[in-house]
Amino acid sequence: MHLFLQQLLKLQSLDQMALDSKKQIENIHAEIERIQKKASQLETYLTQKQQSMQRQELQYHSNASQLQSLEATLKKQKIRQLSTKKMEEYQALENANADLKGKIEDLENQILADLDYLEVEKKAYTQEVVATQRDLEQWQLREKQLLSEKQSLQTTYAQQCVDVNNFETHLQGPFYEAYTVLRRCGKTFPIIVPIIKGNQCSGCHLRVSGDTLAKAMHNMQPQCCENCGRLLFVEQEN
Ligand SMILES: [Zn+2]
Repeated sequence: MHLFLQQLLKLQSLDQMALDSKKQIENIHAEIERIQKKASQLETYLTQKQQSMQRQELQYHSNASQLQSLEATLKKQKIRQLSTKKMEEYQALENANADLKGKIEDLENQILADLDYLEVEKKAYTQEVVATQRDLEQWQLREKQLLSEKQSLQTTYAQQCVDVNNFETHLQGPFYEAYTVLRRCGKTFPIIVPIIKGNQCSGCHLRVSGDTLAKAMHNMQPQCCENCGRLLFVEQEN
């Protein structure tokens, strides 16, 4: 095989390795972001839950103090009732007392229901916090692993880029030029592929035309697959 083809294939494999590292770094980065998003959603959820419980607790305390004040009012009314001598006034106070007692009873029921509810909520919340803590710790651990993986890959990738650069400094010629154009366009790897048995482009596995094949035979001028646009070469048997 021509030396320049060998070199180009070597360059391609270096490029491919660097590209793989870059892809892996991107994947790891995406996974880190997913974990961070999940963790922040969970924290938001718990905060909201806690706030909602606090509101319920405030409501409970406000009801309890309202109950106290209603009970105090009832007590006062009863005292007034005892000292009244007018039948009408007595009856009016009697009605007011009955009304107040009804309100007190409703409020007591409400408070008891709230207490039950709060108790259940608190228990569930505590369990959730424990489970969440476990999840968060696992995620943090995973995130740490991923970060260190990413860091080491970034080092590898930087070195690979240097390797590519060093290697291609001395490369030149039409094949190399064609290769760099395709690489710059973000062509899917491999960019340069041999024509294989049945005159197929080994990139897309479609038959190349007789004309292209004839021109490619001598590996003199770069020929591209009419279908996928990859750079073609012919492997000569020695
Ligand atoms: Zn092709």
